Amino acid sequence: METVRVTIWNEFRHERENKEITAIYPEGIHGAIAAGLRAAGGFEVAVGTLDEPEQGLSDRRLAETDVLIWWGHVAHAEVDDRLVERVYQRVLSGMGLIVLHSGHFSKIFKRLMGTNCSLLWREAGEKERLWNLAPGHEITQGLGDYIELEHEEMYGERFDIPEPDRLIFVSWYAGGEVFRSGCVWERGNGRVFYFKPGHESYPVYHNPEIQRVIANACRWASPRVVSSTVVARQVKQPLEQIAAERR
Ligand code: ZN
Repeated sequence: METVRVTIWNEFRHERENKEITAIYPEGIHGAIAAGLRAAGGFEVAVGTLDEPEQGLSDRRLAETDVLIWWGHVAHAEVDDRLVERVYQRVLSGMGLIVLHSGHFSKIFKRLMGTNCSLLWREAGEKERLWNLAPGHEITQGLGDYIELEHEEMYGERFDIPEPDRLIFVSWYAGGEVFRSGCVWERGNGRVFYFKPGHESYPVYHNPEIQRVIANACRWASPRVVSSTVVARQVKQPLEQIAAERR
């Protein structure tokens, strides 16, 4: 199996500003996700955060990324539009993108989806059960019928996204709502996975099953083709001589 180069991008604000969240993620959310990938093996892991130079994602870093993981919440608006455009073009060229939890409102996800990506939410620490709808899919390998999270934020339908190419998980909540919590799309040459779990005040990214989904998704989303989809405006010469009838 080839090594997949994964970059975990995290806004990294809650973990620095709120002591209770620091206690859950002393190394940041990106640190917990990185630890899971390193333990799984087969990944070269890099991290980037919003307050670093170039907002944590230089051209070089992006060029050396097979799969980008995105976690953001309170600072979506601070992400530079030029960076969003670079990430967008990288996805269209073949880079994989995994958008987690509140990343549903990130500029890059909304750009790729073309919709508002709105949803309903409630923070009541209720139980979430993610039903595995695609047991044959690469993303669900090693999982059972469902994943149970004792405490999570509720995200409910309707989730304003385009119809996924495939629905991987649907969540049920103790409060009665349901949510399409694992969805995949192709955009250009790139593969995109949205995965709902990961509210900052619960230790979701330390959960081995959640770590497994993220590792599986990184393998699934790793590029099959890397090629720019920007086509130069030139007339294409035919490969064969065309015996066109002249009128
Ligand atoms: Zn949340």
